[in-house]
Amino acid sequence: MDFARDLTAAEIMALGEAHIVKTYKRAPMVLSHGRGVQTWDTEGREYLDFAAGIAVNALGHADAGMVAVLAEQAAKLTHTSNLYYSLPQIALAEKLTAHSFADRVFFTNSGTEANEAAIKFARKYARAAHNAADKTQIACFDHAFHGRTMGSLSLTPKEAYQAPFRPLVPDVIVLPFNDSAALEQITERTCAVFIEPIQGEGGIHAATPDFLRALRARCDQVGALLVFDEVQCGLGRTGDLWAHTISGITPDMMTLAKPLAGGLPIGALLATESVAAALSYGDHGSTFAGSPLITAVANHVFDRISAPHFLAHVKEVGSYLKERLEEINSPKIKEVRGRGLMLGVEFTGDLAGSVVEQGYAHGLLLVGSGTNVLRVIPPLIVSERECDSFADRLTAILAKV
Ligand SMILES: *Cc1c(COP(=O)(O)O)cnc(C)c1O
Repeated sequence: MDFARDLTAAEIMALGEAHIVKTYKRAPMVLSHGRGVQTWDTEGREYLDFAAGIAVNALGHADAGMVAVLAEQAAKLTHTSNLYYSLPQIALAEKLTAHSFADRVFFTNSGTEANEAAIKFARKYARAAHNAADKTQIACFDHAFHGRTMGSLSLTPKEAYQAPFRPLVPDVIVLPFNDSAALEQITERTCAVFIEPIQGEGGIHAATPDFLRALRARCDQVGALLVFDEVQCGLGRTGDLWAHTISGITPDMMTLAKPLAGGLPIGALLATESVAAALSYGDHGSTFAGSPLITAVANHVFDRISAPHFLAHVKEVGSYLKERLEEINSPKIKEVRGRGLMLGVEFTGDLAGSVVEQGYAHGLLLVGSGTNVLRVIPPLIVSERECDSFADRLTAILAKV
């Protein structure tokens, strides 16, 4: 069929229901275009986008700078495979390492793939550096989300996600989050520990700086690699370039993805030289990853986000938004938490689904985490005026649900 042909929204949605595998329950409209924090559906209704494609559209929709870089690079060179050097990929790797603990980067196409790479790197490193064939165990935490492919799914201890797909990757243990006493379970058998400095899917729960420091110390004691999954919380979302910076410690590896190319698919695994040295030619790869097209856009996104005034804006507007949310005087709100523009509103009951649903009628795109938390993760360019409008609409929604 011709995808540009005129169909009503109802017809498009019916076709989608007929032809797409039903792994997602989609919202009852068809989005057609956007600008900044605003989006419109095919019927001309307007929505304030406080989901940002799940913390992806950091610069909002139809950003002029992104569009220009995309068009320019598309006209030059889109894809080469990793058999060849291309400048945009190398420039991005240089930037990511210059602004982090890392020395080297491995590019992927998504967050889950970045974590898969980290799993493979950790296993190979344990063999190469410790010469220990049984140092294969990986630790993760309660309520973690690391992705949906088999390796990262194995580190995502949610029964509904894991049960239909067992057996999973073996030798994984799950520890309680923010519980320093439980870190004893990390031993010489452990090759890596994966943690989100702020859990996103799990309900916007931050690891305390003390806990991250204790975790770093335990990993050093037993020779386990510490892996920060900053796929959602990293790259400016908190107002710091990296969410872990406030802890004062650094990991051995860090995974990135969601906002890195402002909406195009990309992931990255950042690693220290000592970890990266364990990998040899042929150990891992990806046909598409790090293409000149996507990394050209990612360079632009990174330059914009990493500018001090941009990060200062995220901190300022984030605090403003948090205050506005705290002012909502609703008995249905239990807690507002998080920092920067990674906020969570926890309800007293399982209201997340109906709040998201009501959002559509109130011109809001929203995303929950679990059944009782609303994730507030707008584009990082959001203004105070848009935050006011969001808070007013959420107040009205809460009076209804
Ligand atoms: C979204 C997410 C992933 C998975 O990323 P995909 O690009 O969906 O594969 C992994 N870790 C965290 C913390 C995430 O939020």
